[in-house]
Amino acid sequence: MSEQNELSEADELYRIRHSASHIMATAVLEMFPDARLAIGPPIKDGFYYDFELPRPLSTDDLGEIEERMRRLVKENFRFDRETWSKDRAREFFADQPYKLELIEGIADSDVSIYLSGPFTDLCAGPHVNYASKCKHFKLMKVAGAYWRGDETKPMLQRIYGTAWKTREQLERHLNMLEEAKRRDHRKLGKELDLFAFDRLAPGAVFWKPKGWASYRQLQDYFREIEDANDYIEIFNPLLYNKELFETSGHWEHYREHTFHFEQNEQTFCLKPMNCPDTMLFFASRKRSYRELPLRVAEFGVLHRNELAGALSGATRVRQFCQDDAHIFCAESQLYDEVVTLMRMIDQTYQMLGLQYELELSTRPDKFMGAVELWDKAEAMLKKALDDRGEPYRVHEGDGAFYGPKIDIQVRDCLGRSWQCGTVQLDFQLPRRFELTYTASDNSEQTPVVIHRAISGSLERFFAILVEHFAGAFPTWLAPVQAVVVPITDDHNDYAWEVAGQLKANRIRVEVDDRSEKMGYKIREHQTQKVPYMLVVGDKEAESATVAVRTYAGGRRGEVTVDALIDEIVERIRMRALDVEVKPIELAGTADDDEIGSDMEDRGY
Ligand SMILES: [Zn+2]
Ligand SMILES: [Zn+2]
Repeated sequence: MSEQNELSEADELYRIRHSASHIMATAVLEMFPDARLAIGPPIKDGFYYDFELPRPLSTDDLGEIEERMRRLVKENFRFDRETWSKDRAREFFADQPYKLELIEGIADSDVSIYLSGPFTDLCAGPHVNYASKCKHFKLMKVAGAYWRGDETKPMLQRIYGTAWKTREQLERHLNMLEEAKRRDHRKLGKELDLFAFDRLAPGAVFWKPKGWASYRQLQDYFREIEDANDYIEIFNPLLYNKELFETSGHWEHYREHTFHFEQNEQTFCLKPMNCPDTMLFFASRKRSYRELPLRVAEFGVLHRNELAGALSGATRVRQFCQDDAHIFCAESQLYDEVVTLMRMIDQTYQMLGLQYELELSTRPDKFMGAVELWDKAEAMLKKALDDRGEPYRVHEGDGAFYGPKIDIQVRDCLGRSWQCGTVQLDFQLPRRFELTYTASDNSEQTPVVIHRAISGSLERFFAILVEHFAGAFPTWLAPVQAVVVPITDDHNDYAWEVAGQLKANRIRVEVDDRSEKMGYKIREHQTQKVPYMLVVGDKEAESATVAVRTYAGGRRGEVTVDALIDEIVERIRMRALDVEVKPIELAGTADDDEIGSDMEDRGY
């Protein structure tokens, strides 16, 4: 029996991807014998290898490298590990300065080497046993990458590839990427005129009227849930003297992620989170146990100094807003609060039709506070999760240093998972700010704080929703909920009259009275994914009706304006999902050549 049969799917994919990167390096060395090699690790869904090459690579080169790789895979050489002395390795890699640098960084006196066909690499492995395991791959792109990620070091060329165990998996992955491209929020944001980006404000969203209309609906929705659960809302300054963050500990531990500057002989800092200023609110007057739990929401504008290279549309930004809140409570109130929070989470995500999973992260190696307190808090969170009755994951040791937490992982219709909201217990911050309340026995006690956000960053959450719905928002979230289309200019007056009635009922409506062909207008509003298209002509004007065509259901015929208003208002009130977004089937074709390749395993 081969050893590889006992590997988990993840381990096997890891080996396949790592080995594919070696095979790619083999092909690149064939084409450029003087290439200098840096590193070539497996990554999520694939692999890369960094090279210093005599000329920049083009897409055509990728095709040639792929062809060479296919030939190499067919040669089906073994991957063998050897242990060399550092001297032997130095001699072998004499022309490879990056490898020499890596060798110097290795603490042991010996180094691990992998040999595969004509290729030899400094590498800890592990790898597949035979090259034929790596036949389902595709090279994706070339990008620049600094050696060791350091911009003072040479810029190398990084080739990215993807590799899978079967052709079906590979095809599914490529289909997923195609579908993701189609739904990309940056593309749809432009097409639907929702938001824009500008190099003059890197990492920040410029909300256009349509996008902002939807964003406000989302924010209102979170407010409504908070109001129903006894939250109060504050709005504090964005810019603070650094002293605030010295007290909170962020200045010491988080400074490089903040924007700060000196002016008027003070050091100012843009707040990267709402926690410290919410502590000030609690401390602003004497507090009694009667006020607890005190649930304080703040849609504060936050800035974080993300690396320019990490920025990506609205999902990785420097300026954002969270549906953030801090709950101050007594230890004895924690359980009920967490249960309520999980109910709010369930309500929110189910209403949006999103699939999600909760994950518990427990005490890390480096933690603050008493172990007993941690144990108690973790047991309490576990009980709350158990009582909820849904499966959840546990990440041992992944909690924050100040307390355990529950994270919300959202899975979109393409099966991609996103970390969204979070519920974090914090025993430390209230102490740092010396917060107290008077207990029923008149003693002064320190409250516990729960940091919580249900969606996390609203910008990011919005982007996820754009991609999940492929821009076809349910009516309540849609930027424009209805568009009235007069058949000819003669019907413009009636069109505006209908629009006026809808507007009076707070429905976001537009009139398309351009002198364009009917078919053209209808196609355009269909592309804009407007939920309700209302066509009006003589017949409709006479009977106070509209001819309805919905984005979700197509042509529906005549409806009176009053009945239509009732319907739309009710759908908005219910926040109904117009169409249920189901996980997308991304089938690849089944493999017919899988049997056979495993026959080579016997030598391993
Ligand atoms: Zn390697
Ligand atoms: Zn917080």
